[in-house]
Amino acid sequence: KLHNMVQELKGNIRVFCRVRPILPSDLIPSALKLKEQAMARIAFPDKLDHKEIVLNSSSENAMGQERKDEWAFSFDRVFEPQSTQMEVFEEISQLVQSCADGYNVCVFAYGQTGSGKSFTMEGGHTDATVGMIPRAVQQVFRVTEDLRTKGWEYKMEGQFLEIYNETINDLLGKGELDKKKHEIKHDTRTGRTTVTDANVVALHSSAQVRTLLAQAQSRRSVAATLMNERSSRSHSVFTLRIRGMNAQTGETCEGSLNLVDLAGSERLEKSGAASDRDRLRETQNINRSLSALGDVIAALGEKGDGKSDKHIPYRNSKLTYLLQNSLSGNSKTLMVLNLSPLATHLNESLCSLRFATKVN
Ligand code: ADP
Repeated sequence: KLHNMVQELKGNIRVFCRVRPILPSDLIPSALKLKEQAMARIAFPDKLDHKEIVLNSSSENAMGQERKDEWAFSFDRVFEPQSTQMEVFEEISQLVQSCADGYNVCVFAYGQTGSGKSFTMEGGHTDATVGMIPRAVQQVFRVTEDLRTKGWEYKMEGQFLEIYNETINDLLGKGELDKKKHEIKHDTRTGRTTVTDANVVALHSSAQVRTLLAQAQSRRSVAATLMNERSSRSHSVFTLRIRGMNAQTGETCEGSLNLVDLAGSERLEKSGAASDRDRLRETQNINRSLSALGDVIAALGEKGDGKSDKHIPYRNSKLTYLLQNSLSGNSKTLMVLNLSPLATHLNESLCSLRFATKVN
């Protein structure tokens, strides 16, 4: 109960944290460092509620004395490495459902490159490993099918955009990426957002959506010199718009579901960006847009207390400007914070946790 009240106060913003498992590939280059790589430094103390995560580090100072640090964080839900895609989806399925009730829903995956954002959002190719996007789409189709019996008819449309270096690209378009200019237009009367020259595809089935996602992915990897590179340095935004009409009652409703795989949050040094000007610009754009997102969500959370009518700084990045209408008003937002379990990533994990604390 108390928890639900807190949710309301927070204006429907929730934050989950998910730690990925250790992978065989984590161990190969540093088999000798196995002990260091072990994830013993991350603990999940509350076994029942799954809301807490504790990071421990121990180091030696110059005098050879051991120094221990401990950081504790709590979230609406914490997922341990062994959590399955199904378990994660169970926690967000209600949120997904509410887009059919006329809400604008946004789900973000935040974290350093390699922390599991794409695994969480897109996932693998088997039934057990498919991620939140295909599961969400499937659920929306299922729910709307059920509501048909009550007289509702739905139209669904999809859009898949990429924001790379503060430039919008259409992942469902044809031809080379980065060639067409796209602009964001807000219709204040209808509350609709359009992106000029971006494809909007009528959606009929989950299978069709899966094909679209695969096409978008291959488009991105063709544009990148290295397979994983471009996708880790850009935000991808999948939007499903849903319009419902009930012929029996005359009711209508309109909602949207935005599933966002954010660019890697790692700081400058890690990517070796300082030596390369293009990389530097990319990294600065990423940092700026991630902090703009944090600012907007934090401001929305404060607004949710009903006391302040603060200005929300949507215009500070393409991402927040694009999602302006989906983040304000009738909206529900979930941030999934993805963490690497490796001790070598402890500092990045702490940065991510602190970012999430700001919006939580
Ligand atoms: P990111 O999108 O944050 O760069 P990825 O989603 O690509 O990270 O994850 C990095 C690697 O870890 C991939 O090989 C992915 O399959 C694997 N991985 C991530 N999360 C999980 C998980 N929960 N279970 C199994 N493998 C995972």
